[in-house]
Amino acid sequence: MLFRQFFDPQSCTYTYLIASGLGREALIIDPVKEQCELYCQVLGELQLKLVIAMDTHTHADHITASGMLMQQLKCKIAMGDNAPGEYVTLRLKDAERINIDGLQLTARYTPGHTDDSFSYVMADRVFTGDTLLIRGTGRTDFQNGDSVAQYHSLFDVLLTLPDPTYVYPAHDYKGCTVSTIGEEKQFNPRLQVNSALDYAKLMGQLTLAKPKLMDIAIPANCRCGI
Ligand code: FE
Repeated sequence: MLFRQFFDPQSCTYTYLIASGLGREALIIDPVKEQCELYCQVLGELQLKLVIAMDTHTHADHITASGMLMQQLKCKIAMGDNAPGEYVTLRLKDAERINIDGLQLTARYTPGHTDDSFSYVMADRVFTGDTLLIRGTGRTDFQNGDSVAQYHSLFDVLLTLPDPTYVYPAHDYKGCTVSTIGEEKQFNPRLQVNSALDYAKLMGQLTLAKPKLMDIAIPANCRCGI
């Protein structure tokens, strides 16, 4: 498999480019507009044909490159079926499979950070968006966030994956690039709770500043960054 992890230093976003091999069809998860040129360069170098650009949710901290990639490379845009993105062509439902040239992903609805948050499960790994971060979880205080829903997304969906499953989040602010489900169960401080109520209490105690780009990014992402 061909797997590349990109980092956008401004928003600390990770973007994932996946294909079954050189010269094959590819998909990209959570692309960032400012990095679009880099993705196009690597796609060209590896002779990949980008067929799907997908976002895990409507981001508040950066603008997606999905619309730009659609315009430049004629790929589809995939998101959850309740995402506002105007140009989304593949509207995914929970448990829906995405098949491209030698690869299969399963979309799982994991609301809580936003009400349109999806995770994408693929063989030995899961792309968790901002639902599960490394030693953290995504904030739930705007975009119809809901701590109780997030608790269920975490404990009833993501943490039921096998312990060795690799966790690839949408962000990391400390430089960690990958974890596993087992490692997060054991060491993630947000997961050491006994009930949804406990989790909601913990999330309610956070005092977080609003993302700097929020007022620009959300409306732009409702148009897939176009
Ligand atoms: Fe987010």
